[in-house]
Parts: sequence; C-alpha cells; structure tokens
Amino acid sequence: MIQIDLTGQVAVVTGGSSGIGLATAELFLQAGASVAICGRNGERLAQAQATLGAKFPQAPLLAQTCDVLDAQQVAAFADAVQQRFGRTDMLVNNAGQGRVSTFSDTTDEAWREELDLKYFSVIRPTRAFLPMLRDAAGAGKNAAVVCVNSLLAQQPEPHMVATSSARAGVLSLTKSLAVELAPQRIRVNSILIGIVESGQWRRRHAKEAQPGQSWEDWTAELARKKNIPLGRFGRPEEAAQALFYLATTLSSYTTGSHIDVSGGVARHV
Ligand code: NDP
Repeated sequence: MIQIDLTGQVAVVTGGSSGIGLATAELFLQAGASVAICGRNGERLAQAQATLGAKFPQAPLLAQTCDVLDAQQVAAFADAVQQRFGRTDMLVNNAGQGRVSTFSDTTDEAWREELDLKYFSVIRPTRAFLPMLRDAAGAGKNAAVVCVNSLLAQQPEPHMVATSSARAGVLSLTKSLAVELAPQRIRVNSILIGIVESGQWRRRHAKEAQPGQSWEDWTAELARKKNIPLGRFGRPEEAAQALFYLATTLSSYTTGSHIDVSGGVARHV
C-alpha cells in the first residue's frame, strides 16, 4: 500500500466544517499534515474542530470563520495560516453550494450571485494563498491547488442552469490557472462530482421522504431516478480521496486535469 507522510506540510481546506471539506481535512490530518479549515458559521466550525480534535488530539489544526466571498476575511485567514504554520503547500477550494433554478425562474440578481460564488470562491482563496504556495514550490516542495467542481461543468442540467454555466466557466478558469502556474511548479486540478451525501441532501430526505422511508432507501430510489450507474450517492470521503490524490505528490505529473467522481453519470467518452 502506498503511504504518504505529510508531516511538516500544510493543507488549507475552504468549507472544511462539513461534508466533503471535513472529510478532506480528516484525510490530511491522518497523513500528518497541519490543516486549516474555514466556514462562515462559527458554531458549525467549532463542532468540526471538536470532531477533528477528538480524532487527532495532537494534530495541528486551525479553524477560522471566513466567508470566501469576502476579500478581507480571506486575506485574514491567509494571514492566520501564515502566522500559525508559516506556510501553505496545498489549497483545496471547496466552499460553496448549488442553486436549483431554470432559465425562466433565475433573476439577474440570482445569476450574479451564482457567478460570484462559483468564480470568487476559487479566485479569492487562490490569490490570497498564492504567495505561500509559490514559496513552497520555490523550495522544491509539492505545491497544489485543487478545486471541487461538478460534473455539471461538462453535462449541464436545465434545472440548475446558473450553477451548470458557472461550473463550466470555473473548469475553464482552472485550466488557465494550471497553465499560468505550471512554470512556477504549482499544479492546479479539480474533481467533478455528481451527487455526494451532504447536509443539503439530509435535509431534503427529512422533508421529502415517505413516512418511515430510510435514508438508504430514499437515496437508492433517487439514484435510480437519476440513472446513476453505481446505484447510490457518493460519500464525502470518496470525493476527499480524489482531492487528496490531486493535492499530493501521488499526482505529481498531473496538472490542468480533473477526476470524475460521479458514480458513472458522465455520458461523454
Ligand atoms: P456541505 O454543505 O456539507 O459543506 C459546504 C461547506 O462549505 C460548509 O463547510 C460551509 O460552511 C462552507 N461554505 C459554504 N459557503 C461558504 C462561503 N461563502 N465561505 C466559506 N465557507 C462556505 O456541502 P458539500 O460538502 O456537499 O459541498 C462541498 C462542495 O461541493 C460545494 O462547493 C458544493 O457546491 C460542491 N458540490 C456538492 C455536490 C453534492 O452533491 N454534495 C454536488 C456538486 C457540487 P458554512 O455554511 O458555515 O459557511
């Protein structure tokens, strides 16, 4: 089995207080990295910090409230990481959420909000952490940015018109970033996910499931309706493993690329 020791390296995970981000923070901690996570809701963040702290009592972990859409808060988060750990080797741009709306019911304001979220949740943290990533790369270390994107980038859904469109734009952005940063030895990649179990889906189960219908039965039925070949939702740790691969030297010769974590939903060859 390949084992990777990240002792002395620092991983930053935006939106690390829940779901995929939390599972990713856990993987980095398991591998010995120092980890910084952020989220907007202080309570949820404190809960995540407590959960991770209980599993990895000695682990170097920083948790700071930060809205990735707020440039000042992102700069303050990067400063805090610099002060606490002195470096950043891996940045995972994960913070965000989807928007369900068709072209007919998406207002101009909703379009702007969605484009703002999808683009600036990548742009702001990447810009703020770039100097530290450059330092890591300049010292001959692995330096990587990985973005959580969606299969919607390549396979748009009309009921998520704005999200799909923004996701395609971000896929293009990560490709450009990868080419621009390659000479500086900073790799940039992304994962394209389908449906991954998250707080959002748990809430929908609570609201929409038949009385007594278990989470397993409800998600299996949805997976059938949505034609997911593997017949189930993904788990946060399955997305986290792909992020971990792209963030570490396991993928040292890969940049400007993406991994599909959609259970086979992609129809293109
Ligand atoms: P969760 O809701 O479980 O986690 C989202 C995390 O992002 C939370 O920690 C949340 O904390 C944080 N977050 C959201 N907005 C911001 C913000 N503006 N600034 C800082 N932190 C923020 O969802 P998932 O784990 O499922 O989602 C992770 C990523 O995957 C998201 O970008 C989502 O859009 C994407 N995705 C998920 C899919 C799925 O099926 N689950 C499908 C396609 C894409 P807080 O709310 O406290 O800020």
